[in-house]
Amino acid sequence: MKSYIFGPVLSRRLGRSLGVDVIPSKTCPFDCVYCEQGKTTSLSSEINDWVPIQDVIRDIKNSLHTNPDYITISGSGEPTLYSRLGELIKEIKSFTSIPVAVITNGALLWKREVQDALLSADLVMPSLDAGDEEVYKKINKPVKEISLDLIISGLIEFKKRYKGIYWLEVFFVEGINTEISQVKKISLIANKINPDKILINTIKRPPSVKSARTVSSEKLLEIQSIFGSKAEIIPDLKSDEHNSNSEITVKDVINLLQRRPCTILEISNGLHAKPDKVQIIIDHLLSQNTILKVMIDNNLYYQLTTPS
Ligand code: SF4
Repeated sequence: MKSYIFGPVLSRRLGRSLGVDVIPSKTCPFDCVYCEQGKTTSLSSEINDWVPIQDVIRDIKNSLHTNPDYITISGSGEPTLYSRLGELIKEIKSFTSIPVAVITNGALLWKREVQDALLSADLVMPSLDAGDEEVYKKINKPVKEISLDLIISGLIEFKKRYKGIYWLEVFFVEGINTEISQVKKISLIANKINPDKILINTIKRPPSVKSARTVSSEKLLEIQSIFGSKAEIIPDLKSDEHNSNSEITVKDVINLLQRRPCTILEISNGLHAKPDKVQIIIDHLLSQNTILKVMIDNNLYYQLTTPS
């Protein structure tokens, strides 16, 4: 039986986050060069009833005992493509007080129905990675019909309507959107959007395009200073070993790696298992050629050989 839940994983932004995946892998209006879920196989802005809502709700209810900090709707594609997203958020909020977050690329926020769907979420985290159309096409590789201007209008309009927490994430890839003139353009747009917080991110996991490069800590600090006091650089994960005593299975590890490549530490933190137990399963999966090793920024990641 397919599970619509992953984790809780230790998120660099949201603490212990129970992931909810409502989109077929990997369906998205973007094909970002930095995407940690691999290349977009279905480049689409079609909103659809992709998964049975009652099955998703059943899986969430079955995972509430893990007591996550957030229930986070994100996963293997763009969650605002799910036509029942608003209904799902309202339903979750009817049976738990755990806050609901939605991580979105913001590409469809200009649609009134998508804004309406997100209004009940506690936290919405859209993205903006470019200050002009040329860089937008380079970094996000979007569907033809959605321009950057349209996205910006949606980001601004939604902020005016939304009463919850609004964090804007800006993802930087060295040599694509890191020129100071480009950073200033993005920063000006961010000011117009007026989010509660601006999260500055860069490549920490194997990207979809192998040549995409991470941004140095020094440069991220320079970028942060351009964005001003609302900007934060997303910190690296710390070990959560004192909470690590769960038994884990091969299936748990594969389920996590289906969503994104992870280090031993991330698997250990996400599944609350001791790193040596994770290592045994990783060695087994390597010997079966189910996973492979990838080095990013001096960190060793494991990813599935064949993405699901
Ligand atoms: S990073 Fe997000 S928006 Fe970009 S391709 Fe991946 S899933 Fe889509």
